[in-house]
Amino acid sequence: MKRHQELRRILQERNLFKLVCGAGNEDLTEVRRLATIYTLAGAAMHDLSANLNVVEAAKEGIKTAYEMAPRLNREIALRPFLNVSIGIKGDPHVRKARIDKKVCTCCSECVDVCRQEAIGEDFVVQEFRCIGCGDCEKACAFEAINFIHKKADFEKILPECARAGVETMELHAVTEDDDAAMRDWRLLSGIITDNFISVCLDRSLLSNKYMTERIERMHAIAGERMIVQADGVPMSGEGDDFNTTLQAVACADVVIKSGIPVKVLLSGGTNSKTGMLARQCGVVAHGVSVGSFARKIVKPFVMRDDFDVDFDIIKEAVSVAEDLIRLNLEGLHG
Ligand code: SF4
Ligand code: SF4
Repeated sequence: MKRHQELRRILQERNLFKLVCGAGNEDLTEVRRLATIYTLAGAAMHDLSANLNVVEAAKEGIKTAYEMAPRLNREIALRPFLNVSIGIKGDPHVRKARIDKKVCTCCSECVDVCRQEAIGEDFVVQEFRCIGCGDCEKACAFEAINFIHKKADFEKILPECARAGVETMELHAVTEDDDAAMRDWRLLSGIITDNFISVCLDRSLLSNKYMTERIERMHAIAGERMIVQADGVPMSGEGDDFNTTLQAVACADVVIKSGIPVKVLLSGGTNSKTGMLARQCGVVAHGVSVGSFARKIVKPFVMRDDFDVDFDIIKEAVSVAEDLIRLNLEGLHG
């Protein structure tokens, strides 16, 4: 079966679990280790920053997973699809925090809340780790933190990523700038011509009506190849309760009820309860994308210096990741 047919089948069977490494996450060691863990655990797709080095790190992690599978008595049923994400200016997934040293009082509040450990003792943000979540900004009482959008030449980078093995692409389009959203959507559609492309939307800036109108315009370009990643609360804060995941289910409900024939993934605030909540609410989504929570539960393993040499650490991490996937997919289906 060809790869795009395989992905179509997984979506039709409503069995897609996507690991979100983070559109802004360029920590190569973390991405490589996440790819190993979640490939062994059975994730069907890995979502990556649109950066060749990150793509190569994920491929390396997948290669390690295949090498380790026999020792874990596992068969990897599906080689995960590699997806890269790009974002429109203003979208939180692709911004980077900056600390204004002239205003900063060195109180360390931001260091304590940063889940990526991206802020050093010198109060400088390590950009490759920053995922743009905004937690540091909320914690700073002195308004010393602002954000920059790193401009990238996507017309050059995206074809390079496709040549490196990336099969699907995603646009984070949380913006009121409709022209920019449609321009970048056409770009993705022109590069990935024989597989799915995805748009990640939430309702923080767009009303239900405007969001569905944008999806309609994008569907006119991508047709049956279109996935909508319905984002509840972008970079939610990693909670594992029903309230954290409620808006992901609500956003997907709006998209599904629009009747536009797209595949729908739940995202943003997703956790171990997402699939179950969707089913209880009668929201028939095609899969679940998990970012912050998926990274958080394996972080104690990923951060260890002996990760690459201690088989038992990987085994334990895979078991934790596998539970998350199972809970979501079983939850979706009942
Ligand atoms: S919270 Fe604000 S003032 Fe405190 S260290 Fe961070 S940037 Fe500086
Ligand atoms: S708290 Fe979030 S936005 Fe701030 S530095 Fe850390 S990852 Fe970046």
